[in-house]
Amino acid sequence: MDSIEPTTDTPDTPPPTVDVADATMSASELEEAKEYGKRGLICDLLGRGIDLVYLGLMVFVFAVPGSWLLLQIEALTASETLRLLTLAAVMVLLNLIVSFPLAFYSGHLLEHRYGLSRQSLAAWLWRYIKVHALGVAFFLTLLPGLYWIIWLSGSWWWIVAAVGYFFVSVIMGRVFPTVIMPLFHKFERLEDEPKNQGLRERMRRLSEGTGLSIEGVYRMVMSDETAKANAMLAGLGRSRRVILGDNLLDQFSAEEIEVIMAHEVGHHVFRHMTKIIGGVFVGSLAAFWLCDAILWKWSAGTGISAASGDLPYHSLPMLMLILTLFGLVMGPVGCAISRHFERQCDRYALQKTGLRDAYRSAFRKLAKLNKDDPAPHPLEVLLFHDHPPIAERIAAADH
Ligand SMILES: [Zn+2]
Repeated sequence: MDSIEPTTDTPDTPPPTVDVADATMSASELEEAKEYGKRGLICDLLGRGIDLVYLGLMVFVFAVPGSWLLLQIEALTASETLRLLTLAAVMVLLNLIVSFPLAFYSGHLLEHRYGLSRQSLAAWLWRYIKVHALGVAFFLTLLPGLYWIIWLSGSWWWIVAAVGYFFVSVIMGRVFPTVIMPLFHKFERLEDEPKNQGLRERMRRLSEGTGLSIEGVYRMVMSDETAKANAMLAGLGRSRRVILGDNLLDQFSAEEIEVIMAHEVGHHVFRHMTKIIGGVFVGSLAAFWLCDAILWKWSAGTGISAASGDLPYHSLPMLMLILTLFGLVMGPVGCAISRHFERQCDRYALQKTGLRDAYRSAFRKLAKLNKDDPAPHPLEVLLFHDHPPIAERIAAADH
């Protein structure tokens, strides 16, 4: 791999800053952004392929002998739940091993190659361990819940499971900005200091009359990890907050930030969060119904029945394969809805602020900082992008 930055920890030196005063991309920058986008896409597709092959092998090669093996372990004979958790833990660990090389390439090497990451190897590894430890803990906590629903609620389990998933989504939405995100980033509430360019006052004006009672505007420290800039409206109900990356706050003008905040307010005005959770509920109903249609038949065909006579624990790989395939097929639908929401918010930001020049320069800066290909191939956008291409977003200011 060429041009990898040295991986020494230098926590006391300020991160390098990027001059984005002239945010128009040069021909070479454009080429670099296209190349970075293409490599990212290849990694994404490879990752999906690896997941599918891995799950396919689990279902059609390892599920039956593996479950027979687990049945021989005396400590596990008493409990189907214990066998389920053991199988799940083995599957997750194997998957982490299989997917690690690509995760390392796309998450660390590629980001350094394009000068986007400021993380040392140790910092990246620590982040990787934290993210996946949290993910595994969630998975192993929620999975027995799903199987108990299957075992206890009979033929309507898929509706009960979707309702359960709905409540988990709502709780996650609530605690995400207050509990989960602070595990990974430092947050500072923006106070009314001169350096904040009256942003809180601008935010107050933007949210006036929208019914948006945000908990606060926060500065998220990202510059120690990445050169990229980002902003979001996170949380549900009382935990809702506008989050602005420090790279964005430090390098964008007050007017550009106002446009971006207006876009985030738009997500609230159009009730996108509620709509997304509603959509996820409908999607999970369909996905669990599909599992219901396939799982029992498949499990019966393996010749190993559950101790309880109901769905055996070794149906887990098949359950995960169905949910993964469903997610892949529905991905473009979700992306299309998301792009529609983003366009709505872009129009809203333009109408609300009237700052067309700031809107254009904000997106040019974002493209330049994040090395975002302004105009990727339409098919790529259709299948994989949850935001419209930047060129299209900038053109919205002309209408
Ligand atoms: Zn948005």
